[in-house]
Amino acid sequence: MDRTYGGSVSTRDPHPVTGELFDSPVLPGTGWPGDPASPDTPVARTSGQVRRLAASAVDLAELQARISVCRACPRLVAWRESVAREGRRASFADQPYWGRPGPSFGDPMAEILIVGLAPAANGTNRTGRMFTGDSSGDFLYAALHRTGFANQPTSIGAGDGLRLNGIRIVATVRCAPPANAPTAQEKASCLPWLRRDLELSPQVHTIMTLGGIGWDGVLGAARALDWAVPQPKPKFAHAQEVELVRPDGVAVRLVGCYHVSPHNTFTKRLTPAMLDEVLQSLRSRP
Ligand code: SF4
Repeated sequence: MDRTYGGSVSTRDPHPVTGELFDSPVLPGTGWPGDPASPDTPVARTSGQVRRLAASAVDLAELQARISVCRACPRLVAWRESVAREGRRASFADQPYWGRPGPSFGDPMAEILIVGLAPAANGTNRTGRMFTGDSSGDFLYAALHRTGFANQPTSIGAGDGLRLNGIRIVATVRCAPPANAPTAQEKASCLPWLRRDLELSPQVHTIMTLGGIGWDGVLGAARALDWAVPQPKPKFAHAQEVELVRPDGVAVRLVGCYHVSPHNTFTKRLTPAMLDEVLQSLRSRP
């Protein structure tokens, strides 16, 4: 059955876990497991609308819904949707692709936040779940299971029963970028989503960033929220840790970790033991 979304024709394919048929990109509110949006969720089409819709989101659920339908960055919208329709990896050619921004995944009351870079074209952009469907995610979720944050070692896709305890995962940029390289403007456009996420998560005491872009994104969001940030700007490094202080005096730990990208894990720049050690340290309060 052909339907239209974003001006183009798509074909429905069976979800790899539930077998239900979905368009690519997935239409909001059509039954995709974990889809936070409905057909009525307001859509941001400019960076100004991102700021307004982020600021007026009353809770995390509403924020994630609005994020998941955002269309504010024309280059990224075109890329994520073209991959979903025509650019699928051959091994996933018979699967529907989420093709929308990645909402956060994990425990909504988590005291620990993991901040990544951006969805991968055939990972989150396919499955709709952070770090799911590629080797980066395989590496990360195995470690989250070893360290007690996840109930199973694998993340296949929405509907597979995976639950995180005490931890939630977000990205600095919510749409898959070409060559994993968002522009400065795209990073700036997406930052209000992260900023509001931090505002709506006052229980978070520790933030771990995977890579330097996440590190810079958190520092930018923290400054925008008038958190005290050390000067000069702390540089990202593996196992680097700095303390940020919110206006209400509450301290938040910022911890760096090398990204779980194949480039880092295949070369052993980041080993399972290194990642486990950082993850185990996250339960300590500042
Ligand atoms: S990158 Fe962020 S701001 Fe840009 S379209 Fe995606 S969700 Fe919206």
